[in-house]
Amino acid sequence: MKWKRIKDNRKKTAMRHVERLLELSLQNLDEHPERAKRYVEIARDIILKHKVSLPLDKKRLFCKECNTPLVPGKTARVRTRAQRVSITCLNCGNVKRYPFYKEKRQFGARRGYAEKKYPGGLVCVELAHKDGQIRRIKITGDFFFYPEERLSDLEHSLVKAKVSDVGAIIGRFYRDEKIESPGMGPESLAEVIEMAAKAKS
Ligand code: ZN
Repeated sequence: MKWKRIKDNRKKTAMRHVERLLELSLQNLDEHPERAKRYVEIARDIILKHKVSLPLDKKRLFCKECNTPLVPGKTARVRTRAQRVSITCLNCGNVKRYPFYKEKRQFGARRGYAEKKYPGGLVCVELAHKDGQIRRIKITGDFFFYPEERLSDLEHSLVKAKVSDVGAIIGRFYRDEKIESPGMGPESLAEVIEMAAKAKS
């Protein structure tokens, strides 16, 4: 029986710090614009140092020229044309253009992360969801899941599933695939997935 190991823990921490900094930056934008820019600057240092790749919706939160957090209607002007979206930084005038299909696909998708320790081990879940539907999901951690190679099949079966159906889907998967995970059950996995879906990213 093999173990699933936590990978890139440092990267995950870096990612959490970056997301927190971007959040703080937005909170400070009105009253302390210089501080808001400084937080973006620090976040970008961390991104470079740890080679963190941000999801598209996060990448567009700040101006790459002057580090101003971009908020449509406040610090940014967003224009949509036939094939693309342009975002103008109202602080320095820098314009970024993106193909529209990406914007459409990513728009509104939320990311979440959660972890929980059970007698069987630590379960970590990272996912993206929109309108209660899972778009992407990665289950990692340090727990028994046998046969191990079925874990990616389980992830696959959860893509496009409704978060509210996750418990039923995993239960069925355990029965059909004769999954064994000593020290935790299908309901444990479902619990962490629901936590990740509720987590604020
Ligand atoms: Zn700018």
